[in-house]
Amino acid sequence: MGTVQFGGVKAESGQRATGKLVVGELDQLSFARGQIDVPLIVVHGAKPGPSLLVLAGCHAGEYVGMEAAIAATRRVDPQTLAGTLVAIPVVNPHGFAAKVPYINPLDNLNINRQWPGDSGGTVGQRITYAIWHEVIAKVDYLIDMHGGDFPEDQADYTICIQTGDETIDAISEDMARHFGLPYIRRSPPSEGRAPTGSSSRMAMQLLKKPSITSEAGDAGRCDPQRMEADTFGILNVMRLLKMLPEPPAPPPSPQLAIVDRKTVFASTHGLCRAHVAVWDAVKAGQVVAEVANFYGDVIETLSAPIDGMVVQRFFQGATNPGNIVMKIGAIAD
Ligand SMILES: [Zn+2]
Repeated sequence: MGTVQFGGVKAESGQRATGKLVVGELDQLSFARGQIDVPLIVVHGAKPGPSLLVLAGCHAGEYVGMEAAIAATRRVDPQTLAGTLVAIPVVNPHGFAAKVPYINPLDNLNINRQWPGDSGGTVGQRITYAIWHEVIAKVDYLIDMHGGDFPEDQADYTICIQTGDETIDAISEDMARHFGLPYIRRSPPSEGRAPTGSSSRMAMQLLKKPSITSEAGDAGRCDPQRMEADTFGILNVMRLLKMLPEPPAPPPSPQLAIVDRKTVFASTHGLCRAHVAVWDAVKAGQVVAEVANFYGDVIETLSAPIDGMVVQRFFQGATNPGNIVMKIGAIAD
């Protein structure tokens, strides 16, 4: 109702508006010059309701999430929408342009380890700061769209954070389940990282707002079916939040949980040969990959640390000491 404004984008009631969130100037930060900005789409409903932000494109190869974020804003009818849908479909425009995985090439940092940002920091820290203060602080809910980046095969699942606040955690889990991907993962706040200098969902603990992260699509592809599943996920969460007139579709049954996730590392340099693929079930101790030298001798054999499913695999044929080869998730109801 009325007018809303995020960054430089104003939207009247019942209107879809597009524009930019200006972050700052590059000239003091790097050899490059020019304005740093991120694209912003605001769909402001004709009816009162909550506000939802969809972020995507933090990692340059995760096109499924970017396309889904855009598609959701185009499929929602502002006249029947209750509340406001805001999307930033490309959080990392420099990574997008350079087509490099994981980082913003102007500071070589992973933006999803910079939340909630720093106004005087690097490019990625300034992007997260601007989004945090000008958009996230003004909305009620967050969906951060991810997936496997350029070198990764990825199983599709939705992560909900557990903050320790039962009300927020229950809403986040309900959002994750209704997003509709085949698996969910509850991310405890103690899992490795503090709320600052971390992922968007970890940082959301600071604001005590419900938040989920979707992991869908991989390898720099935009598979149409996975893009549709991700778009459905956004729209179904909006139905759950009563932003759209129809009731939400129930979560898939069965929808299992990834309750633990262990990483398989290589300790040698050579040709990496995976024996299993994403979605494969594995047993603890099962050989899942080997590393060979340039003469074909196997110099390292890698085993699954736990029973579970391959949830992520780096498919490049080379590995170095300390590189991640794959991640195995333990599965439960
Ligand atoms: Zn990502």
